[in-house]
Amino acid sequence: MARAVVSYSVAHTVVPTYFCFNRCTYCTFRQDGALALIGADAVAAELRAARAQDVCEILVLSGEVHPRSAQRESWFKTVLNVCDQALKHGMLPHTNVGPLSWAEMDQLAHVNASMGLMLESTSPALQLKGGPHFRAPSKDVALRKQQLEQAGKLRVPFTTGLLLNIGEHRERDTRDSLQYIAQVHREYSHIQEIILQPFQPGQSSRAETSSADQRSPMTPRMSEIDAEYLFETVRLARALLPESVAIQVPANLMDLGQIVQCVELGASDLGGLGIVRDEVNPLYAFPSMSSLSNALAVRGFQLGMRLPVHKSFYSWCRSARVSELVREWHERIQQSATLLHVP
Ligand code: SF4
Repeated sequence: MARAVVSYSVAHTVVPTYFCFNRCTYCTFRQDGALALIGADAVAAELRAARAQDVCEILVLSGEVHPRSAQRESWFKTVLNVCDQALKHGMLPHTNVGPLSWAEMDQLAHVNASMGLMLESTSPALQLKGGPHFRAPSKDVALRKQQLEQAGKLRVPFTTGLLLNIGEHRERDTRDSLQYIAQVHREYSHIQEIILQPFQPGQSSRAETSSADQRSPMTPRMSEIDAEYLFETVRLARALLPESVAIQVPANLMDLGQIVQCVELGASDLGGLGIVRDEVNPLYAFPSMSSLSNALAVRGFQLGMRLPVHKSFYSWCRSARVSELVREWHERIQQSATLLHVP
């Protein structure tokens, strides 16, 4: 009998800027100071190195520039250029850079295989004084919902998700957030996966981890109580969302046993595994592919590489360039003896 497949993507992250006008209290990503954008040479060097390592997905992850800032245009051009260059280097972009205008999202949809934005939580309390989103205007719940709906109207294969442990009510808010995603998907059928991302208290800020590359990566850890909350959320998500929507859990934030348990409860995707560095949680090490594969095999699962756009959305590609690359990567994975098939 064929074993159930747990998918992953071979991805590398390119960051147009670490500047961000929001001030989420839990942020480990943003850097203080003026807007500094990645240069064209640095983009080209990163993409060449990624292509040489057989990377398929370029995750374009950026801090945000205020929509009315005079610098918005140059920031957006940089984001667009990273996507364009990734395609030229033979890789498929997936952009997640915060809320976008209709025109911006539409333009990016032509150079992306899929796009994403975390809903995080529908809890309005997170935006109140003392809450983690009090100084983060783009985390406005109505705005995040509008973005998910806009992506649906534009027919963009979309990834969203919940950030857990940031002060939400663990039953009421989590259920409400998942129900909202299920509802918007019922309307537009565009959600390809949801990420259930547990925030790990005690993570260091980027400033504190600037030399993280020289340090030993930390062992993934999650308290029993947080793990139980994650398991319950996976269970609930699987019950509320159709099977066609994959549930992703991050493989570097928990131990192998916890990963396997999430999979048994309905998670079917582990996100980017070939990445050089997790830009949001830079200190947490990913398990090796062999240890992951062995742990899953014991319970009857096997790893399978996927593209940044899930198979049921291949026909949604907005440009011939993206379509052609999707076809090439799909065939390549199917034919490769070393890469597992696309589930
Ligand atoms: S929006 Fe993202 S990058 Fe900006 S402060 Fe919040 S968590 Fe950090």
